[in-house]
This record gives sequence, structure tokens and C-alpha cells, in this order.
Amino acid sequence: MTIKVLEPDIVAKIAAGEVIERPVSVVKELVENSLDAGATQITIDVQAGGVEQIKVSDNGTGIPVSELEIAFHRYATSKINDLSDLEKITSLGFRGEALPSIAAVTEVEIITRTSSEVVSSYLRLRKGEIIERESRARPQGTTVTVHHLFRFLPARLKFLKSVNTENSHIAHLVSQYALAFPEVKFNLILDKRLSLRTTGDGELREVIGEIYGLEIAQNVLKVEQVDGLTKINGLTSPPSLSRSSRNYLSFFVNRRWVRSPLLTRATEEAYHGLLMDGQHPISVINIFVPSRELDVNIHPAKAQIKFCQDQEIFNRIHKAIKEALARSPIASSKSVPFSLSSEQWQSPRLIMDNEPAFVIAQLPTIELPVLRILGQLSNTYIVAEGPDGLYLIDQHAAHERILYDRILAQWAQKEVEVQGLLHPITMELSPREEETLRASKEFLFEFGFTIEPFGNRSYVIRAIPALMAKSNIIEIITALLDKLASKDSPNPWEEKIAQSLACHGTIRAGQQLSNKEMLELIKQLEQTKQPRTCPHGRPTMIHLSSHQLEKQFGRIN
Ligand code: ADP
Ligand code: MG
Repeated sequence: MTIKVLEPDIVAKIAAGEVIERPVSVVKELVENSLDAGATQITIDVQAGGVEQIKVSDNGTGIPVSELEIAFHRYATSKINDLSDLEKITSLGFRGEALPSIAAVTEVEIITRTSSEVVSSYLRLRKGEIIERESRARPQGTTVTVHHLFRFLPARLKFLKSVNTENSHIAHLVSQYALAFPEVKFNLILDKRLSLRTTGDGELREVIGEIYGLEIAQNVLKVEQVDGLTKINGLTSPPSLSRSSRNYLSFFVNRRWVRSPLLTRATEEAYHGLLMDGQHPISVINIFVPSRELDVNIHPAKAQIKFCQDQEIFNRIHKAIKEALARSPIASSKSVPFSLSSEQWQSPRLIMDNEPAFVIAQLPTIELPVLRILGQLSNTYIVAEGPDGLYLIDQHAAHERILYDRILAQWAQKEVEVQGLLHPITMELSPREEETLRASKEFLFEFGFTIEPFGNRSYVIRAIPALMAKSNIIEIITALLDKLASKDSPNPWEEKIAQSLACHGTIRAGQQLSNKEMLELIKQLEQTKQPRTCPHGRPTMIHLSSHQLEKQFGRIN
């Protein structure tokens, strides 16, 4: 092929692909434009996951008639003038790419009025061409409506997941902006249903209440630190409240929502030793740094940033959160139940020989030998002897494997044991959790859950799988919804559900087991399909062969 410069409409399509990955990216660009325009009220109205329609209305400055058409030109922006401005960006947008990119692949309507104009101006564009232009009535502000996103990019439509999945991304995004801008009143409407409404009264705690519920809002601790030009503030959970995913960590740098492994690590390390393995804090952290210490211009979506002084920022966040935690009354008393006390160490439980010595395998096993239990170590591992050396079995991982196999087997045979709750439990979901629940309601039902809407993002749990732990049901369901929403695991949904239920229903590390219980556990482990790994693929046991022992003791070379 000869080298040639691409036609403008192809260039526009390619560019659109960069900015508009999916409906949620369009919502992001439009909401950012509204915020940049100083809006104090933003309404986002989405239909069919945004594929059919996305409408964002604000009461911001509006666009003057004379500039409206230019706004749809590539690299047209009112936010920066020259290179020096790029170093001191305070707005969320600045590339001038969003409106033209969106317009290039869809049909867009815009109606806008500034405070100095009497009537508002209206434009309708299709594939970047203006097809209608007139004056209409509207109070000050702007409404942009995007119709049939991807109609002209059918390839992308194919990759889109279900309406509910798209809704859940949008709910999560709008929740983040609501957290970043407590002074702005947000309304999110998904398929004519009010999903989120914030009051815009400027209180972060209130917004947290709207999104994560009252319990969290009442208990989060204040984070506050000013150090020269860098300011950190926000709210973070006490060690007694945590979640099994990182979805509840939000960071805003100069009010821009960012995903940053650095900030995540700094926060999580401040909780070191305070949370159980696999648990994560709930934090909303605002960081203000002089914009010259920051590079936001790494990627068109601007979700990534680079700090000039990484280590410095890390230390400050870490310190600010530590200080907040130190002020929490519970922080010092609660720690992970892993330590081995000296009495436990001396207890005769470690070697027990008074019960039936050998466990006879009942099913042909995948290389699980006959084991003789010697005792329990650290209330965490079962110590056993096999024909060839020593076995250390992780009681938690082993039990997880057993439950996982059983849950999946019951489901596959359509014989899930269900337990009705005598006293149904009510739980409040975040906008994102609600969307995930709506998307997975049937699956959850197949696994034994009956969860019914109770209005206003409240849900009633009437039945649960009989195999599920009966304590902290709400926590387990929250973790389950997180797992279902997670993108990092490509597993089919039934495996996700079984994994999540198994993980939370199990014997924890730190629980003392009787000899009988240990025998039973090993017997059941033998009957699973893969006794040597837990559902996450970690080993359930460690084997030290007689040969290895002899080598370690220098009996052989
Ligand atoms: P950018 O936000 O990077 O400047 P956009 O393509 O998103 O680029 O928008 C182009 C311009 O249109 C903006 O710079 C702004 O002047 C104007 N604009 C877009 N949306 C709004 C809005 N909701 N209210 C006021 N002005 C807007
Ligand atoms: Mg913009």
C-alpha cells in the first residue's frame, strides 16, 4: 500500500476510538465539561446502558452562540491558550477532543445558553455534520444528548457487554464524580430509574452516605494534612470496616479522579497489620498539588497521572492515613488473629495420638496419600504424616476447596439447598452494586439467593444458600457483588459465585480445630477434584518428603 494522509473522517473515527471506548467514556467527557463550566447541578440520564441515549444537562456557563460550532472542531478548547497553560491546568478537559470525537461517530444534539444571551442555541449533528440549527428556550446551561452511540461503529457495539454491565460502569463513574465534587448536585437516572441523587451541600460525608450507606458514613475517619503547597484531605474507614475489593478506594488529584497504584499502595500500607488478608479499606482521598508537579497529559482519557515526586507523595499519603487511624479508638485493639501465643505453643494439642490414627481414603484420590494427623500449628495448619514425610495443610484453603466443589456440584445438579431467613435482612446497595445485582439476579437465584427490591436502593434478603455462612450475610453479599463486577477475573459467573461463597464460608485461619474436625476436613478434602489447590489456585498443602528431611538434617548429601 502506498503511504498517504488519511481522510479527515477516518482520522476522526480513529481519534473517537481513543476517547470513546464505551458509553461510560462519553458520560465521563460530558460530565467533565459540565464541571469545567462551573455547574452546580448536573443530571445524567442514560438509556440502555448508554448505547441508545446519553443526556447530560447542567446549569454551567453555557457556550456563546458564536462559539458553538467551533466547539465541535478538533482541538478546539476554551481551556488553554498556549504551552505555558498546559503546565498549570486546573480544568478537567483541555485537549479539545471530546465533543468532535463524540460527534464524529454518533448523532448529537446540543442546546446551550449563556447568562448574557436571551435565547439558547440548538445544534444537531450527525457524523460530525451539522444537520439542524435553530434557537430554542432553555435556562442558562448546556444539555448534550448523544443518540445511538456506535451506530456508525458497529464493530465496537459487538464488544459491549450487557446493558446492566454498562450501567454499573456509569453508576460507578458518576459516584466518583459525586465524591470528588460534594458541592455539586448530581442526579443519575438509568433507564428512567433514579440511581443516585446527591444534595450538593458540600459535605463529603453526606455523599459517602448516599453512595455507601449510613454505617460507613458515620464511621469513616477524617484525613487531613497540609504540608507546604500539598494538601491532603478526605475520609477513610476505621479498621473495623473493610471490603474485599479495591473498588472502594477513590483518589482525586486536583479534583481529577485517578487510578494510581502508588496512591493505593500508600493507603493500604497504612492499614498494614490492621486488616485481614484480602480485605481493603474504604477511602476517599483528595490530593491537591501545584499542577507543575504533575503530568496529566499521559493518556487521552486522563485517568493516569504522574507525580514528579513519587516518593514524597507516597510518604505523605501514608502518613496522613496513619494519623487518621491513630485517632480511631479501635485501631489499637483490633489486629489480625494470627499470632501464636505461648500457651498454644506448649499445649499438648500439637501431637495427638489418641484418636483413630489413619484416615482411609474413600474415593480414588488425585495423589492424596493416607495421612495421620499429628496436630494443629498456629491454629492455622494441620500437621500430618504421610507415607513419605510431612504434610502441612492450610485449613482455610482446604475448607475453601471443599466448599467450592460442593457449591458448584449442587448448582450443576440443580439441587442447591436453600435456607429461608426467618427474619429477612435489609441491605442498602451503592448505585454500582445495585446495577451488578440487577445484572446477576437470576444467577444468584440459581445459587439459592432470594433478594427483592425494597425501594431506594434497599433490598430484602429472604433466602440464602444453605452452605453459606450465616454470620455477616451483608458482608458476604457485598463481597459477592464486587467479585461479579470485577473485570480482573475472566472466570464464568458460576465460578465467581462459588469462589466468593466458598471464600467467605470457610474455617478461618486462627480457629482451633479438634482432632475429629481435622480428620473430617482431610476426609472431605480427599473427595474433591483438586485437593492440592484452593479455588484461587494457591496450594492447600506443603509436602516435605522424607528425602528432603534427611537432606536438611545432613543425614544424606
Ligand atoms: P475540552 O473539554 O478539552 O476543552 P471538549 O471537546 O470537551 O474539549 O469541549 C470543547 C469546548 O466546548 C470546551 O473547551 C468548552 O468551551 C465548550 N463546552 C463543552 N461542553 C460544555 C458545557 N457543558 N458547558 C460549557 N461549555 C462547554
Ligand atoms: Mg472536555
